[in-house]
Amino acid sequence: METKEKKDDMIRGGQFIVKDTKAEDVFTPEDFSDEQKMMRDSVKEFVDREIWPKKEEFEKKNYDLTEEVMRKAGELGFLGVAVPEEYDGLGMDFVSTMLVCDYISGATGSIATAFGAHTGIGTLPITLYGTDEQKKKYVPKLATGEWFGAYCLTEPGSGSDANSGKTKAVLTDDGKHYKITGQKMWISNAGFCDLFIVFARIEDDKNLTGFIVEKDMENGISMGDEEKKLGIHSSSTRQVYFEETKVPVENILGGRNGGFKIAMNALNVGRIKLAAACLDAQRRVIGSAVQYANDRVQFKTPIVKFGAIRQKLAEMATNAYADEAASYRAAKNIDDRINIRLENGSSHQEAELKAFEEFAIESSILKVAVSENLQDCTDEGIQIYGGMGFSADTPMESAWRDCRISRIYEGTNEINRMLAVGMLMKKAMKGHVDVLNPAEAVADELTGIPSFETPDYSELLAEEKAMIKKLKKVFLMVGGNAAKKYGEELENHQQLLLSAADLLIETYLAESAILRAEKQANIQGEEAQKTQIAMAKLRLYNAVEKVNKKAKEAIISMEDGDKQKMMLMGLKRFTKYENYPNVVELREIVAEKVAQENKYPFD
Ligand SMILES: Cc1cc2nc3c(=O)[nH]c(=O)nc-3n(C[C@H](O)[C@H](O)[C@H](O)COP(=O)(O)OP(=O)(O)OC[C@H]3O[C@@H](n4cnc5c(N)ncnc54)[C@H](O)[C@@H]3O)c2cc1C
Repeated sequence: METKEKKDDMIRGGQFIVKDTKAEDVFTPEDFSDEQKMMRDSVKEFVDREIWPKKEEFEKKNYDLTEEVMRKAGELGFLGVAVPEEYDGLGMDFVSTMLVCDYISGATGSIATAFGAHTGIGTLPITLYGTDEQKKKYVPKLATGEWFGAYCLTEPGSGSDANSGKTKAVLTDDGKHYKITGQKMWISNAGFCDLFIVFARIEDDKNLTGFIVEKDMENGISMGDEEKKLGIHSSSTRQVYFEETKVPVENILGGRNGGFKIAMNALNVGRIKLAAACLDAQRRVIGSAVQYANDRVQFKTPIVKFGAIRQKLAEMATNAYADEAASYRAAKNIDDRINIRLENGSSHQEAELKAFEEFAIESSILKVAVSENLQDCTDEGIQIYGGMGFSADTPMESAWRDCRISRIYEGTNEINRMLAVGMLMKKAMKGHVDVLNPAEAVADELTGIPSFETPDYSELLAEEKAMIKKLKKVFLMVGGNAAKKYGEELENHQQLLLSAADLLIETYLAESAILRAEKQANIQGEEAQKTQIAMAKLRLYNAVEKVNKKAKEAIISMEDGDKQKMMLMGLKRFTKYENYPNVVELREIVAEKVAQENKYPFD
């Protein structure tokens, strides 16, 4: 049982940027419980049996196959991992939810999308916001795969600006129903779902209202054809039209005007789960790529021996390792928050809602980082395959097309970058995370005399951890200056916000990789974690380079003259290693391990 002191000591969402985190305080994928490992293995076995061998079939717009696989996933309980047992789910923790989402999503984006839309935005709004009656009526069906859910927020004129939807809900004269009229677009699972979560506006309300709408095609519901898409070919995506569709008043979800809040909170969870959904695809792409590289001979040499290929494999594996570290670190933070709230007497619903909201910054960071790393991974996967990578007969081509959507849905990566910084600034203003005092301290440090002492970096990863502290100072210097200079107007300086978001992203991912390697080295010994330590160092080096570029861009666009000079000097100081790593050597260590194991080796 956690104590009161422990609660006060618990990390808050967004606080990582001002607080040192100890290696022993992070959860890593090596810490999965036996139960979690069993769950992971049964999902892996399911995917290898039911999805991976049919990969080609998924490219042929076989929507029935998607439905069939989803139905089987339901029978095995995979759709109800997060659902409380009283509603026929497995009632497992959030780390397990992430784990199932991770391993079920790697073989094809069609299933990743169908699974994500059903379990996330299709079911979760009811488990989080539904009344007891609504939950009893709908959740057991959704948890077991008897029914499937879809989520209707986007409209032709309302995408990123989600609250601007024109769909209307009008109360009938007898006050018993609402009649919903409007057009929804890009609705995943529309073709085979049984229930829609629909967002519509009542009268001239400021915010949308959510409704649970059963799919009765006799009740004013019609659909467009399947969209012709770049990827996720067997994921059903259609327009849905509502024409005076009658919905009982008791099917309002979360109260009148509450829809926008539901939409945003469902997305908070959706985003971190989307990061998880981009993990196993990286492992599979790395596995296929290294197998090909070991087999393919050019110039009488297996191409895996070439530095150019080894560089790619090392970078791909390093990103996947950091992505896993950051995703499960945040997932466990969410679990811990849920548990503390439960202990303090909150309902499960309330506890989950607050915990997801608390870590919304990390969720946005992860959505962006992991979706972009998967994109890079598939791109390099194609390159390793050479001409064969361009062929639809190899798995790289569809992986590359499928993952492209992850940068667009659940809030585009542009929107999520700006949200991450915006939410942190809001938390700072409200005093929930003290960013202002540390930012002031960094501003003072810029004008002070730097220390000329030689630091002691003899302990494992000591210099790397010192670098992370300095990267945090870069964010505080740039973000703090921007907030002071532009105040409320900051949101209009989008290019600055995007740069600041990259500072947050790079710092979180590099720190997570370092803490994972350090924690495991402390447990298993340095030699056993040699490759992981190399990856942590490599991920940090890449982060430092990117932070340097993005922060410089922000500084020279924001300030000039002496202020600019001072900030650039600060940046130089905060991104300077005492002992630069030998980057080629680090990549060699990683590439050798990947080549020898002929797969992503850290799973
Ligand atoms: C395959 C697929 C499945 C989907 N599934 C669903 C689903 O199940 N349910 C659902 O409701 N929706 C779904 N969507 C919709 C998806 O969430 C939206 O496409 C997404 O939110 C972007 O909206 P949009 O397409 O209207 O683009 P827009 O909002 O028009 O954006 C276009 C570009 O402008 C940028 N932009 C927009 N606003 C700003 C701003 N304020 N500042 C800076 N840049 C901005 C965006 O980042 C983007 O680059 C799906 C989409 C696809 C393609």
